[in-house]
Amino acid sequence: APRIVPRPDHTISRAGISPNAVKVLYRLKNAGYAAYLVGGGVRDLLLGREPKDFDIATDALPDEVRAQFRNCRLVGRRFRLALVHFGREIVEVATFRAITAPDTGGEGEGEDVDTDTDTDTDTDTDTDTDTEDDFSLDEAGRIVRDNVYGTLEEDAWRRDFTVNALYYNIADFSVVDYTGGMEDLREGILRLIGDPDRRYREDPVRMLRAVRFATKLGFRIHPESEAPLLELGSLLEDIPPARLFEEVQKLFFGGYGLQTFELLRHYGLFRYLFPQTEASLSREEDHFPRTLLTHALDNTDERVRAGKPVTPAFLLAALLWDPVHQAAAALMEEGENEIAALQQAADAVVAQQITRVAIPKRIALPMREIWHLQPRLTRTSGNRPMRLLTHPRFRAAYDFLLLRAAANPELAELAEWWTRFQETDEEQRPSLVTPGG
Ligand code: ATP
Ligand code: MG
Repeated sequence: APRIVPRPDHTISRAGISPNAVKVLYRLKNAGYAAYLVGGGVRDLLLGREPKDFDIATDALPDEVRAQFRNCRLVGRRFRLALVHFGREIVEVATFRAITAPDTGGEGEGEDVDTDTDTDTDTDTDTDTDTEDDFSLDEAGRIVRDNVYGTLEEDAWRRDFTVNALYYNIADFSVVDYTGGMEDLREGILRLIGDPDRRYREDPVRMLRAVRFATKLGFRIHPESEAPLLELGSLLEDIPPARLFEEVQKLFFGGYGLQTFELLRHYGLFRYLFPQTEASLSREEDHFPRTLLTHALDNTDERVRAGKPVTPAFLLAALLWDPVHQAAAALMEEGENEIAALQQAADAVVAQQITRVAIPKRIALPMREIWHLQPRLTRTSGNRPMRLLTHPRFRAAYDFLLLRAAANPELAELAEWWTRFQETDEEQRPSLVTPGG
């Protein structure tokens, strides 16, 4: 039997929940369905943190959910998920599931994902158009839908961590706990539900989620949930690159990127996401790449925590810079010119990277521009610097140079030159450049 924590014994109040999510909960309840807030929303509210989004679980079937809302769309194949739209806010409503197998966040399993940077692999939009059903045939050749839906209890046991399996019941404002999540939450323990080895094998992305939640929540991973992390990393090789991209975004743009990076490396998981970066880190000289990466992650974390926008291209440019730089240097030794060498090196590194983690075009293009502008930034003569200032990617490329300079004292002078050049009045700028080319 679950532990039921009544309203006076926990800290969740309706005031902490987004008004739209409250609306959805009540609409379902008033239509006679069970409706619960679940997952990160409940966990974060109980911890006194502001939830990122609110997920709802119900016994209403997807079509029944859709019938309750005008602004509702169904997505996903095997598991159909209802998205209720309120302007920019989307409330996810999922029917209780009975199956513990991979939850790919509504994206549908086994779908073909394009990992070519030349086609937009923006998976955010994939789900919107994906309305195909997953079905199988019975002995008589009739189409039957997989029986994937279940009870509240089954839904609780198929979730990943105990602290992610708490349900806030809109009918009586209690919290329902089947897996010991309340206790773990109080003690700051992240514990996989069920047999850890089996649950990680079933969905290796749970290893990345363990690292993400441990850093974000400041929890320690229970020893039994922690041990397999050191063993099972290679299973990430079977995860589609598009799904890993989704996960990488959450890992590095959630405000705890630096700690997450350190912990991923500690468990030997980082190398399955960025193998070329891992290789360059392990042969690092003078700590150059490490410092560059550390600074980039730190900057990103600061911006995220200050609520400022971040450019994924910038961090990815930093993550892959050392492999690109090294490959370019090798090509130059063979006699290739600087620009061509960088171009070819970038092509090769990106081609390899996207076999592990997809990089959508909207990120790959600016990332490559940041790289390609680096040699151009070394030319400070004639009217080239003036022209470069007007390049749409100048600012990002200059910021990237500052980052490199922080890691490499040899670049300090060049970085300062560019800072001065921008600070100088337009009429005075020509006096800073040396005449020529
Ligand atoms: P946040 O949104 O703050 O990153 P979250 O816990 O809400 O954290 P989501 O990815 O939004 O994480 O997933 C919502 C819930 O779905 C989780 O809390 C968990 O219960 C369940 N879940 C998500 N991914 C998995 C998975 N791979 N395996 C099992 N359960 C999962
Ligand atoms: Mg969530």
